[in-house]
Amino acid sequence: MTDLAIRLRGVVKRYGAITAVDGLDLDVPYGTCVGLLGPNGAGKTTTMRMLTAQAIADEGELEVLGFRLPEESKQARAQLGVTPQLDNLDVTLTVEQNLLVFAHLYRIGRADRRAAIERALEMANLGDRRDSRVDKLSGGMRRRLLIARALVHRPRLVLLDEPTVGLDPQVRQELWALIDALRTEGTTILMSTHYIEEAQRLADSVLIMSHGSVVAAGAPADLVAQHAGKDAVEVYGSPPRLAEVESTARAAGFRTRRTGTSVSVLGVEGADGRAPEGERRPANLEDVFVLLTGEEIA
Ligand code: ATP
Repeated sequence: MTDLAIRLRGVVKRYGAITAVDGLDLDVPYGTCVGLLGPNGAGKTTTMRMLTAQAIADEGELEVLGFRLPEESKQARAQLGVTPQLDNLDVTLTVEQNLLVFAHLYRIGRADRRAAIERALEMANLGDRRDSRVDKLSGGMRRRLLIARALVHRPRLVLLDEPTVGLDPQVRQELWALIDALRTEGTTILMSTHYIEEAQRLADSVLIMSHGSVVAAGAPADLVAQHAGKDAVEVYGSPPRLAEVESTARAAGFRTRRTGTSVSVLGVEGADGRAPEGERRPANLEDVFVLLTGEEIA
């Protein structure tokens, strides 16, 4: 008996010449929220699709809730809640009817159906919109309903694929509150995202993926401390000035990264006099991400 909700070892998935996932190891302990962070094309969605057996791995071992995939995917799916990246709600039905369809699909007994739906509505704060047709809901409400629908059968594990993609920042915050509530309740969550702040706020541990592989894994604060240090200095200026700051800092042994109009010089704590003048700030997960993947993201 394993204490892991998800256990992947050496998982490979190829599409013709493209290796979408390249030797992935992933552990998701029960009761934790794990974030898969990576730029577009890193292999996050492919990983999610393998966990639901919508895609079948070419190599490796996959275990979800103690069931081996793909052989036992039906048993795993019964205890799994999934929110896809693309909204596939039935827009001709009401909020409540959408939940009812899923209550049937997941074979929730007649006696328990009402309570299950009420609980999901409450969780997603959609009680007062229960009779609204889905095409009358805002984007944020639809996304909350997608999550509510994934919760109706009280899954032990929830897979959230880019849960806040395309939402404006205020609505994103509402979704974060919902995901955080799920976490607090003890639901195990695997979430893919390309929003660094989302991973930093919600995930107990993060895997940074690039080109199908994991380039770093750990608690956000540990990853920051390990790769980017404690403090950074942000230097603004003209492109030639930035290039000069960059090369001087690198020659002095600092790690640097570009952020649009500035250069961040990392790990400047305790480096009095050697670090350039600039705005001091705490190092963050975005610094780690850019250092390790070489990519700027939204
Ligand atoms: P995004 O955030 O854009 O969804 P991602 O990290 O989820 O990115 P994937 O969608 O898993 O990345 O894609 C990984 C790679 O595999 C990409 O190069 C993609 O083009 C390729 N890929 C994914 N699905 C297929 C498919 N069905 N057929 C062919 N190539 C695919």
